[in-house]
Amino acid sequence: MNRIAENINYFKENLPQEVTLVAVSKTKPAEDVQTAYDAGHLDFGENRVQEMVEKYEILPKDIRWHQIGHLQKNKVKYIAPFVHLIHSVDSESLLKEINKQALRNERTISCLLQIRIADEETKFGMEQEEAEKILSTYQEKFPSVKIIGLMGMSTFTEDKTQIRNEFRGLKIFFDKLKTQNPELQTLSMGMSGDYQIAMEEGSNMIRVGSSVFGNRNYG
Ligand SMILES: *Cc1c(COP(=O)(O)O)cnc(C)c1O
Repeated sequence: MNRIAENINYFKENLPQEVTLVAVSKTKPAEDVQTAYDAGHLDFGENRVQEMVEKYEILPKDIRWHQIGHLQKNKVKYIAPFVHLIHSVDSESLLKEINKQALRNERTISCLLQIRIADEETKFGMEQEEAEKILSTYQEKFPSVKIIGLMGMSTFTEDKTQIRNEFRGLKIFFDKLKTQNPELQTLSMGMSGDYQIAMEEGSNMIRVGSSVFGNRNYG
């Protein structure tokens, strides 16, 4: 069996039922996505808008496309007709633009708020206070978006304790928000290097690239 199909099967057999695998296909050819699709997988993640659109156009239309990377406002319009979930909402102004484009396409777009949990300035994401503020008011302002959870990326470090603490902190915040916002159901955290820790800390959506498709040369 093909390596990619083998990996998909491995995750299918080993992930708990409540955990969704987003197979991150960035930089990989559409044929690799097709191989994973043929093995029964439907959720794929991309971080560049143009690459997602190109793959969307040639691949089966029941694929659920996840935008996982930083999203520029002026590019929302290209993915708004079809995107399944945007993981990387890091500002209210981006949410406003997603709402506008969702309305234009007569659909509701599901989103996650990306929270900054890493100690690196270079990682995107909003502070907890901003997420709380957005959640308390967005429904009237932006009726065509639905915030269904949170996303976080840990610090790029070998220090497993630090990674665990960052994920744990996000889970605590997620649980706190859920008491006021029961529609929050998705906690997207964990990549190839740290998804096991993330799941132990309560993740129910993992974004895995290299462990499904093999190493990337870039991206
Ligand atoms: C690339 C990427 C991933 C997957 O990374 P791997 O280490 O290959 O699993 C997950 N999340 C985001 C936001 C990414 O950009």
